[in-house]
Amino acid sequence: VIEIRGLHKAYGQLEVLKGVSLSAHKGDVVSLIGSSGSGKSTLLRCCNLLEDSQQGEILFDGEPIKWRGQGHSRHPADKEQLIKVRTNLSMVFQQFNLWAHMTILQNVMEAPLTVLKRDRDQVEASARTYLEKVGIGDKCDVYPAQLSGGQQQRAAIARALAMEPQALLFDEPTSALDPELEQEVVKVIKDLAKEGRTMLLVTHDMRLAADVSDHVIFLHLGLIEEEGPPAELFRNPKTERLKQFLSATV
Ligand code: ATP
Ligand code: MG
Repeated sequence: VIEIRGLHKAYGQLEVLKGVSLSAHKGDVVSLIGSSGSGKSTLLRCCNLLEDSQQGEILFDGEPIKWRGQGHSRHPADKEQLIKVRTNLSMVFQQFNLWAHMTILQNVMEAPLTVLKRDRDQVEASARTYLEKVGIGDKCDVYPAQLSGGQQQRAAIARALAMEPQALLFDEPTSALDPELEQEVVKVIKDLAKEGRTMLLVTHDMRLAADVSDHVIFLHLGLIEEEGPPAELFRNPKTERLKQFLSATV
């Protein structure tokens, strides 16, 4: 679904990604771990073209992103392709980012209606189904502020699913939550993994990464320091840096 080769990204002089490659095939769950500032969120945002990158290739569904310009003035060249990538790689953020002035149902219906221009009745029916699926089917008509953090995050996941994306991108979906609420969201993510959804998951939760991932990538200062299947990576870290990181996080 998504492939990245030798990606470089800098904010001004600050090099954040220094040649990162990854791929997620259909049904894969790929987790990104690493300390704060290592570039995990930036990498995720580069994947769905929320951020520009200066060098390297991004392929969506085998199709290379077309660029115009070079270096800091490199941008996606093809608007249609950009929209296709954005709508097919739906993102779930740490801070939920629900629209406060809309009900939960309206939040989930908004993008399928306005971006995909789907039929309202169909959109509503599937929005209700996705809200059921994440366990908040009874919260359709309330506003985000009336929900707990865990419920808001599940609504945000339903909203991402409503776009029927090819992959879901999660940026620390559980780290703004209290431990009890975290588990509700963890359960939803595990269910999605079992269903065979393609996902890229940035997380501080090593247990979650170990449970759901097919592949784990440890980023350090904008480079992949180590990667592999979770069983190997967590049981037998090879680099000193990963050993240190794991002993500091457990
Ligand atoms: P965390 O675990 O804290 O979320 P992260 O691995 O997600 O960290 P990024 O958010 O990708 O890290 O940030 C990587 C580096 O890029 C940091 O040094 C950060 O300060 C910098 N950075 C991120 N976004 C911007 C921006 N919009 N402008 C300038 N610098 C930025
Ligand atoms: Mg981050």
